[in-house]
Amino acid sequence: MNAPDFRHAAPAPLALEDLPFDNSFARLPDAFHTRLPPWGLPDPYRVAVSAEAAALIGLDPEQFTRPEFAEIFAGNRLPAGSEPLAAVYSGHQFGVWAGQLGDGRAHLLGGVRGPQGTWEIQLKGAGRTPYSRMGDGRAVLRSSIREFLCSEAMAALSIPTTRALCIIGSDAPVRRETVETAAVVTRLAPSFLRFGSFEHWRSLGRDQELKRLADYFIARFRPELLDEPQPYQALLADVARRTGELMARWTCVGFMHGVMNTDNMSLLGLTLDYGPFGFMEAFDGGHVCNHSDPQGRYAYAAQPHVAHWNLQALGHALAPLTGDAETSLDIVDATYPDAYNGAFLGGMRAKLGLAASLPDDEAFITDVFALLQAHRPDFTLFFRRLGALSGQSGLDPRADDPLRDQFVDRAACDAWLTLWRSRLAREGSSDADRQSAMNGVNPKYILRNWIAESAIRKAQEKDYSEIASVLACLARPFEEQPEQERYAAPPPDWASGLEVSCSS
Ligand code: AMP
Ligand code: MG
Repeated sequence: MNAPDFRHAAPAPLALEDLPFDNSFARLPDAFHTRLPPWGLPDPYRVAVSAEAAALIGLDPEQFTRPEFAEIFAGNRLPAGSEPLAAVYSGHQFGVWAGQLGDGRAHLLGGVRGPQGTWEIQLKGAGRTPYSRMGDGRAVLRSSIREFLCSEAMAALSIPTTRALCIIGSDAPVRRETVETAAVVTRLAPSFLRFGSFEHWRSLGRDQELKRLADYFIARFRPELLDEPQPYQALLADVARRTGELMARWTCVGFMHGVMNTDNMSLLGLTLDYGPFGFMEAFDGGHVCNHSDPQGRYAYAAQPHVAHWNLQALGHALAPLTGDAETSLDIVDATYPDAYNGAFLGGMRAKLGLAASLPDDEAFITDVFALLQAHRPDFTLFFRRLGALSGQSGLDPRADDPLRDQFVDRAACDAWLTLWRSRLAREGSSDADRQSAMNGVNPKYILRNWIAESAIRKAQEKDYSEIASVLACLARPFEEQPEQERYAAPPPDWASGLEVSCSS
């Protein structure tokens, strides 16, 4: 009998005690963070877990039901090898310099080497830190469920994002607009460093720490930049490019972050710090998902411009390393708009089922947004239903009813479909190929506000089954899931007045 071949076997799943910590951020000098244990939560219990996120750190699903799981991810018990700390950063909030911020309610436990790279583990809501300012160091169950579900939903949409491992709840009261209960959401990311992490040192004139952080970041996350003639300039260009690509992904999926302050912008180009986010439903480019943003600074259509502004702030912060502020701004301006536009055009072509790139595509796509703005169909359903239609002209228009039903003015829909079909005819695409390609980029299931809200309401009654079922559905956003059809629906009447604010 041949001996079994273990060479390619996956590593055995790990127990909580065996997580291999690798705390690179903790090795930076004391000025970068404050070491302190989390407070934890009284009488913690498990609310939700993402098995896919657990697999990133090699954690065995059998561990989820152990009491130690809830204790560790509530912050009540420290896993061996962790070195809890809160990081310092600063930032621009709503376009105004806010000075020092930092992890006011987040504790980094350390990095864990997973099967495909190291993931930092961060507890959000496990108590105050020296950066809490007036805050209580807590997160409420409501916002923790939103962050948990959206992190995992974005990952399933292949949009760069921090991940969420679990939510641990407690009956401890937390005061927001009303009294709610506390929770801790555990997030995973290769790094939680933000634009504001660099802005911090620049604002203090501490160029040595600025350089130290850039060297750490490059060595750890972007070692290939060391081969560039100007690694710091290449670093800024890399962040600008990834941010441009991320913004295009947000535009194409209808995601609105809600609080694009520079302290919420990831240096890795990840979607970071989920708060009053939202997904576009009835289309309106001016839509503002954050009730606490009356000026509409972070409206859907403004996001790409805000990201550019934020990159300019990052460029200023990195000026001592790039040479000067003008060099920084040139790098941002030479990189970001092209990265955004390229990813946006490519993304929209795919959403529309256009395989070829033609010179007038940009105008065609502009007209699509004009159509959406004028008639306000549900953004997700518009593209998903378009993907089911035939590209042939001259068929019975009733075959287009699933899309026409999204329009009060059906003639406007018909007129646009004629243009779309003549555009398709120019590249001679086949229906079957195009339809399957479109279904692979136009999700059927997104985290609509009402879906998150229904999971939250049940969880507030201690029924966590809806969180699990939403998580399972959104893990396969492009697949037809007949038993989950209800999650593909636009908001029901009870959800029409839902508002989300910064309070979390
Ligand atoms: P955010 O807008 O949620 O990304 O938070 C901005 C800043 O406020 C960060 O420094 C957070 O750590 C801090 N912060 C937000 N909420 C709280 C809270 N409840 N307790 C302590 N700090 C908080
Ligand atoms: Mg934040």
